[in-house]
Amino acid sequence: MKLYEYQGKELFNKYNISTPHGRLISNEKEFTGLSFPLMLKAQVPIGGRGKAGGIKLTKDITDATKTLTNIMGMNIKGYTVEKVLAEEKVDIEKEFYLSITLDRTKQMPLLMISAEGGVDIESVPDHKIHSEWINPLIGIQPFNLRQIMDHFPVDKTAYKNFCKIISKLYALFREYDCELVEINPLVITKNNDIIALDSKISINDDALFRHQDITAEHTESTPLEKEAKEKNISFIQLDGNIGVIANGAGLTMATLDALTHYHGKGGVFLDLGGTDDPEKVIQAFELMKKAKPSVIFLNLFGGITKCDTVAKGVKSFIEKEGIECPVVARIKGMNEKNAKVILKDAGLITATTLQDAAKQCSTLVGGK
Ligand code: GDP
Ligand code: MN
Repeated sequence: MKLYEYQGKELFNKYNISTPHGRLISNEKEFTGLSFPLMLKAQVPIGGRGKAGGIKLTKDITDATKTLTNIMGMNIKGYTVEKVLAEEKVDIEKEFYLSITLDRTKQMPLLMISAEGGVDIESVPDHKIHSEWINPLIGIQPFNLRQIMDHFPVDKTAYKNFCKIISKLYALFREYDCELVEINPLVITKNNDIIALDSKISINDDALFRHQDITAEHTESTPLEKEAKEKNISFIQLDGNIGVIANGAGLTMATLDALTHYHGKGGVFLDLGGTDDPEKVIQAFELMKKAKPSVIFLNLFGGITKCDTVAKGVKSFIEKEGIECPVVARIKGMNEKNAKVILKDAGLITATTLQDAAKQCSTLVGGK
């Protein structure tokens, strides 16, 4: 489960990791008692809010009231903003990146730190990220801190403070059964304080029962994901523009990988599972249509699922409801010939291989 920034910061405070002063607000009356300049930060459980316009600096109450109206209800990557965190503006001297994740291959927590903070960590070159694996049996040790900090560009005082923060963050990571704790940016202020300006925390769903203090408030799913859950369909929203409908988790993942390979980006994916029930297929397309992808990639492998039954479902949906974007179908398995005829008849683009289909989808949305 992903926490909101404000929930993550509450945990940081519990572990004595400093965060800017501020509070959660939902209307302009709640500005009372806060001092300007003030940062207004949209609360959605996803990163990249800054770029999406969900983080704004306001200089006075008039400015803040106007900005709050703009941010409230804003849609950020499928999430509607219902809460805003209002925080004192921090004067940043330097931004850093700090995180702990679980490295499943090494079966150890992985600590990462970088002097290139405040940007997407994926865009930071590997040699600028320092990594250190922590043996979970003995926990974080002084040598781990030396390994990771010895070549880090900060002075002695900051060095010591960073070490303290890393240890506290590790304690939080373990005690809250986290899959990820990330501070990006962790900043040194003009007054030489070290403050966590952002928080990103993800807790292992299977351990949530141990953390009753944080479960209650949370809503992680987007409205469409919630609707899908009610209909028993696995549906996940991502930030690309290609909608994927496949059957089985493995095939769905392989489809997303194939799209990435051809420089396309999966936007939503929907796993039909082992069903060929036309009613389910129609529901799947209804959801997909609401997600407004630029192209839909239907990738079906019919082992038990009958391809032609699915194709009939698709056709009847398109005839009844219509669909605005192109649909590329790659369909293999039981009764595939019939299925292809039906799909072509419904106006779909049919491809023979996964590669071919992925390439066509990516080209349609302007990938290479
Ligand atoms: P994200 O875009 O979802 O990761 O949201 P962040 O909380 O990380 O904010 C994005 C960026 O806004 C940060 O990297 C900072 O550069 C900037 N920012 C956020 N809060 C403050 C602040 O209090 N003072 C200043 N100067 N910049 C801020
Ligand atoms: Mn951030």
